[in-house]
Amino acid sequence: MLSVQGLSKSFGPFLAVADANLEVARGEVVAVIGPNGAGKTTLFKLITGQLKPDGGRVLFKGQDIAGLSPHRVCRLGLSLSYQVVNIFSRMSVFENVQVAVLARRRQVLRLFTPAAHLAVDETWEILNSVGLAEKAAVTSGTLSHGDSKVLEMAIALGNRPELLIMDEPTAGMSPEETRAAMALIRRLNTEMGLTILFCEHDMELVFNLAQRIMVMRQGRTIAQGTCDEVRCDEKVQQAYLGGHDHA
Ligand code: ADP
Ligand code: MG
Repeated sequence: MLSVQGLSKSFGPFLAVADANLEVARGEVVAVIGPNGAGKTTLFKLITGQLKPDGGRVLFKGQDIAGLSPHRVCRLGLSLSYQVVNIFSRMSVFENVQVAVLARRRQVLRLFTPAAHLAVDETWEILNSVGLAEKAAVTSGTLSHGDSKVLEMAIALGNRPELLIMDEPTAGMSPEETRAAMALIRRLNTEMGLTILFCEHDMELVFNLAQRIMVMRQGRTIAQGTCDEVRCDEKVQQAYLGGHDHA
């Protein structure tokens, strides 16, 4: 579904992503891990069109999408949920998701039109699937951090993505919220058939969720493989047990 080939990006003289290679098959859960500053967010921004790569290719369903606008990439079925929560804080939980659903349908939020009505059913469906239905009427800005992150996922689902990319979906969450978010991500994969690519700096966290893992450090891909392969990799152990970059 996704094939990243030799992708690179510099900021001035600084090489943030160097020759990244990554394959994601339909139906898989794949994790990118690496210490802070490893280049994970930059890699995701290159894939989703927020940044233009200096070199390399990004094939999504066989089409080279490198350099396309985020909007066009999104239309092709690839959604990104951000590391930093990105919601309309003064709108309700329901409205935030409804706007995303309407945007996919190329409609704006105008209440009492038939279109808005259609989006209502789909919005409830999404809120139910992520477990936010009870909080539909809540003003988004008053949600707990954990719920905000789940709302972000719900907004991304409004695009009906085939591939959902999540940048540190559990960042800042309590252990309890983290467990719930992990369970949700697993359900999105198994029950809704979503292909998922996410990144994390906590290695332990991804082991029981991801089927395959790519490890980055200082912009470079230092390992790639199944959980077991990555766990046993000497370079990975060094990166995590030895010198912390600046976590
Ligand atoms: P990660 O998500 O793995 O923590 P990032 O992709 O955010 O890492 O950052 C990788 C490196 O690139 C960091 O050293 C960061 O400071 C640098 N970087 C990221 N974005 C920019 C930018 N817009 N301009 C300059 N440097 C950047
Ligand atoms: Mg990051």
